[in-house]
Amino acid sequence: MSDASFHQWLTVAVLLFAAFTVAITSFVIAPYGRHTRTGWGPTMASWLGWIVMESPAVVLFTGLYLAGERAFQSTPLVLLAVWQVHYVHRTFIFPFRIRSAEKRMPCVIVAVGLVFNCVNAYVNAVWIAELGAYTEAWLTDPRLWIGLGVFALGFHINYKADSLLMALRAPGESGYRIPRGWLYDYISCPNYFGELLEWTGWAIATWSLPGLAFALYTAANLGPRALAHHRWYRERFSDYPPGRRALIPFVF
Ligand code: NDP
Repeated sequence: MSDASFHQWLTVAVLLFAAFTVAITSFVIAPYGRHTRTGWGPTMASWLGWIVMESPAVVLFTGLYLAGERAFQSTPLVLLAVWQVHYVHRTFIFPFRIRSAEKRMPCVIVAVGLVFNCVNAYVNAVWIAELGAYTEAWLTDPRLWIGLGVFALGFHINYKADSLLMALRAPGESGYRIPRGWLYDYISCPNYFGELLEWTGWAIATWSLPGLAFALYTAANLGPRALAHHRWYRERFSDYPPGRRALIPFVF
């Protein structure tokens, strides 16, 4: 099998996994964070789990990228920088910012995240560094700049939304409060909304099936989880703002 057909096969695997994920997570909520429960086997510290499962998106992605024929050309380098802005933060900074460091997550969640991130890193790194065949001309294409704009907006929203959640806890606390203000007046999960914008922006900037597959996977994963968070808030807090939606302002 050539590299190109192996790549195509794995891209289809990401799309199939997105369909599988939305089907499963609509009924079984991934057991970490507020949805943690027993019966999911051995666990590990949450902060470590985040580093382990996300690290292929930094390390493997960089290795595969550097092996690509176009690794040192300007358009792929711009896309590499965008990807790493998100994943260096998610892998090596975010786990040390969360105020749930003493919490644990099941190793099975970490394992699934790790495998997904390996496949997704391969699909996207090989695409931008080689198979996508981006030339200098892409640097003046509006799709690149619209995509980067959407990504940047999503990153800002994701970062700010996570920061506001973290600020709800004093050091050492592990309980939950109702987040209020800014996008929280409209939706329960602005961090997921921002993440979804980021990878939608990536899909536009790369104008590719691998980019689209990742954006769809993100929606498949975070859509049901946002609904689960939203239900959880409403069940737990009798004064939860009734007009708030789950993930997309005024819509969903
Ligand atoms: P959550 O919104 O569940 O939690 C984010 C952090 O804030 C956690 O540390 C959580 O603590 C804390 N927190 C959440 N709500 C409250 C509250 N009401 N009061 C006090 N503290 C609160 O996000 P996730 O943990 O699921 O995800 C973390 C990041 O990873 C997000 O930015 C998300 O977008 C991204 N992500 C991306 C995915 C993808 O498919 N691309 C998949 C999953 C996550 P605790 O852990 O104790 O609940």
